[in-house]
This record gives sequence, C-alpha cells and structure tokens, in this order.
Amino acid sequence: MKVNCITCGHSLNLDDAYDDFEGLVRCYVCSGLFELKTAEGKVRSVKFPQAPQPQPVQAPKPVVDQKPV
Ligand SMILES: [Zn+2]
Repeated sequence: MKVNCITCGHSLNLDDAYDDFEGLVRCYVCSGLFELKTAEGKVRSVKFPQAPQPQPVQAPKPVVDQKPV
C-alpha cells in the first residue's frame, strides 16, 4: 500500500501489516511522524499526529541585564 508522507510527500510503501492500521507511522525519508488510519487495505486518513498539548505556560520574561549607567 502506498501512502504519501504528510511531511515530505514521499510515497511510502507499507506492507500488508498496515492494511488495517491506526496509529503513528514514521517516514523513513524525513523521519516525520504522521497519524495513519487504514481499513481494508485503503487509506482512510493521514494527518499530523495529535500530540497531547501541554497546558500553555507563561513564558518567562527575558532577563534583561540592566546595568546601572
Ligand atoms: Zn517524509
């Protein structure tokens, strides 16, 4: 089964183990991860992996070294 990498567009050749698959696939060309869902040997969806988003934290303010003039 051919699947196009979502990151680099390379056509990846997946074996029969992926005919019924849902999970992450790593592109061997660009090492990009994408979420693949297949059923009955056909690609159902390819999308960017949904990484659990950490709660946004407030970025620390840049420390400005203010030397007295
Ligand atoms: Zn790729």
